[in-house]
Amino acid sequence: MEQANILAVGGGIGGLATAIALRQVGFDVHVVERYPDLHSSVFGVGIIQPANALRALDMIGCYQRCLEVGFQAKVWGSAYDIDGNFLADIPGGEIEGYPPMNGVTRPALHEILTTRALGLGVTIQYDSAFESLVQTDDGVDVTLSDGRTLHADVVVGADGVGSRVRKHVLAGDLKPLYTGQSAYRVNIPRDGIDRIMLQPGPKGMAGFVPIGKELAYFFYNALVERDQRPSDDQLAETLRGHLAPFGGRTAKVREEYLDNPDSIVLRPEETLIASAPWHQGRVVLIGDSVHAITPHLGQGAAQAIEDGIVLAECLAKHPDLEGAFAEYVERRFERCKLVVETSLNIGKWETGQLEGFDNVAATDHALRVLAEPL
Ligand SMILES: Cc1cc2nc3c(=O)[nH]c(=O)nc-3n(C[C@H](O)[C@H](O)[C@H](O)COP(=O)(O)OP(=O)(O)OC[C@H]3O[C@@H](n4cnc5c(N)ncnc54)[C@H](O)[C@@H]3O)c2cc1C
Repeated sequence: MEQANILAVGGGIGGLATAIALRQVGFDVHVVERYPDLHSSVFGVGIIQPANALRALDMIGCYQRCLEVGFQAKVWGSAYDIDGNFLADIPGGEIEGYPPMNGVTRPALHEILTTRALGLGVTIQYDSAFESLVQTDDGVDVTLSDGRTLHADVVVGADGVGSRVRKHVLAGDLKPLYTGQSAYRVNIPRDGIDRIMLQPGPKGMAGFVPIGKELAYFFYNALVERDQRPSDDQLAETLRGHLAPFGGRTAKVREEYLDNPDSIVLRPEETLIASAPWHQGRVVLIGDSVHAITPHLGQGAAQAIEDGIVLAECLAKHPDLEGAFAEYVERRFERCKLVVETSLNIGKWETGQLEGFDNVAATDHALRVLAEPL
């Protein structure tokens, strides 16, 4: 496409990565983000970056910084029994030239993406919540929630799982499905955690992820009824209850690292895969807005970044929008669907709803497919 002015709605991982990729191929890109600044839009603790995420980050010039601030694992992961005894290594997809996994904190990743985007000339407008849009013959008129208006040639909806842009693209009122699992997360000292370490329990999965030279996070995927989320001041006690049957490293977390309730994050796990097409006229969707991925493979952010890279390639290559968007969805749909479904199945298996499921083989298969070129 000839020079175009592109508006990305959402300054999360997907929106920033897409803005960088689009700018790298010469488009003018503007991002609107509803939160007031870079830091207030970051939720959660850490991000697992599998090899395909690292390859994608390399394509947008953010790989080296992620390695510098994060922790590079030499192997993907290992499994332990409930008492903490080693069971087996878990293979990850290999991509030549990249480690199987790097872990970073979410604030660090946001900082890296934002710095790169601004350095390339992307403009980011905070405190600017998308409200609605109207497509006209010569572009898209966007209204923000405070009444301000913007005009763009193309709009990219990168506004996450609760997307407002989505309804302007997809028929019906597609909503994410809560899987019944919620993830507890808490930062802990790294203390020898050098890969993803999984410790399955009777009702949920405990695990560890290195996210810095001295930092790791602990997670526990628990079954939580949607309307029975513990209040913030009950988080530590409730998590201690979930962790009661565990020995090994998980017991240490239970005994030593849950004193500060403010440090515990609990997030619901939601799933969604929108049928193709993911575009309508001049508006296209990426990331969680069309494929919300539970964290079991650590792929949600990776897929959002890959979306942005492929979208930019397609827009640069095709003379017309329809051709560009059609190729984008063609290249992304099956890959994202595999990740959504495998992640969901791992969650069902963790909670005893999928007997006979081979978690290790499913993880290995998905990561091998994701190692294929974009
Ligand atoms: C518990 C948990 C753990 C996870 N762990 C991992 C992991 O280890 N590795 C991994 O790869 N993925 C992980 N994920 C998934 C990952 O966080 C998401 O897939 C990823 O953030 C999706 O990026 P996104 O840009 O599409 O959406 P988001 O990151 O949600 O970004 C959307 C952005 O849009 C903004 N926005 C929303 N509405 C508006 C509006 N109306 N106007 C303007 N801006 C708006 C939001 O404020 C936000 O900044 C995890 C998810 C969960 C729930």
